[in-house]
Parts: sequence; structure tokens; C-alpha cells
Amino acid sequence: MKTCACCGIAKEPDKFGVDHHRKDGLNPYCNPCRRTKAKATRNRYGAALNAAQKEARKKDPHRFRGHEAKYRAANLAKRRESARIYSQNRRLLNPEEAAAYRAVNRLAIREKSRSYYRRNVPAYRARDKQRFRLEKLATPKWLSAIRFAQMEEFYEIAAAREVQTGIKHHVDHMFPLSGITFHGLHVPWNLQVLTHEQNRAKSNRIPLEYAHLTWSVL
Ligand SMILES: [Zn+2]
Repeated sequence: MKTCACCGIAKEPDKFGVDHHRKDGLNPYCNPCRRTKAKATRNRYGAALNAAQKEARKKDPHRFRGHEAKYRAANLAKRRESARIYSQNRRLLNPEEAAAYRAVNRLAIREKSRSYYRRNVPAYRARDKQRFRLEKLATPKWLSAIRFAQMEEFYEIAAAREVQTGIKHHVDHMFPLSGITFHGLHVPWNLQVLTHEQNRAKSNRIPLEYAHLTWSVL
């Protein structure tokens, strides 16, 4: 048992914080007292300390520059993610503001996305290559020329709908080429034209109306 120097109550040693500078290795104040004291100090000096630090930063910005760069470098991914969420929420909550911003900054936005593309050309190439490889693997050798022409048509329809509606359209494989439990074929009867949103929602799953088949096929 140890008596707290603040409240004078005798308590078990585990109710005291560790302090290696003390003879008994424990803080003289019990944990609840320590918390109360810390809170009081914060209340008393917190605002003044913050103001002093702000003042010091204003007076000598170079002194803290290293700290900020270090913090930024250490938390790069975290900061990017929170910035992304912030701007996404802002876009969703203020669609008019977002549209106005897009209208004013159309060229800058285009340049930004182009520059992103240029910086990630290898990744885009790899993805296209993978897609091409998948399609080739999924195209049966016995497919006739007329079937190839029919497939071409789906891509033309998607392009035309995109022009007409201004909404991005994709040619989708109803049974995905790289499904989770199977591989669909690159054949006209497995193709459909979807909007970008519909296609994204679908992901790599098979059509719902065929879901009951999977247990017997597997
Ligand atoms: Zn105490």
C-alpha cells in the first residue's frame, strides 16, 4: 500500500503511475489525482500555451519547417486518404458548387487527368495487356467471322450511346472473363452494353438469374 500525496488515501501500488526517477519507482499521486491535476493544468495554461506556440511559429517559421515536413512524410498515405474523403464528401454535399468548379477549371482538370495518365502509362499498358490476354484466352477457336462482326457491333453501340447520352458506356461480359468461380467466354452472346455505373456495381459476379446454377457446376 502507498499513500497518495494529494488525496492522502492509501492505495495498492498499481493505482499509481510509473516514475523511474522516484525511489519507489512510482508517481507520488494516485491515478485519479494525477488526471485531475493534468486537467487543471491544461485548463489553466492550455490556451496560453497554444497561443505562445502559434506566436513562436509566426515569428520563426523556419524553426518548425523540419517538423512539418517530417510529419507530412511520415503520414503521406493517411493525409492523402483523408484529403480524398474530404473532397469526395464536399462534392457529394455541394453538387452545384462542384459543377461550378468543374466549369471554371475544365482545362486544369483535363490537364491533371492527362498528367496522371502520363505518369501511370506502364500501369495502364499492363492493364490493357492483361485485358487483351484474357479476351484472347476466352475467345473460342471455332468462332466464325460473323460472330466477330457481331461483337464489333456491341462496341459500336456502346460508343454511340455514350455520344447520345453523354454517359460512359461499357461492353460488359455477362459472365465475366475472370469470374471468381468460373471464366466467361468472349463471344457475342456473352456481351451486353452497360453504363459505367451499372458495370461497376456488377463487378466480377455472375448474373443473378444464373446464380442457382453455380452449386451444380462446381
Ligand atoms: Zn490521490
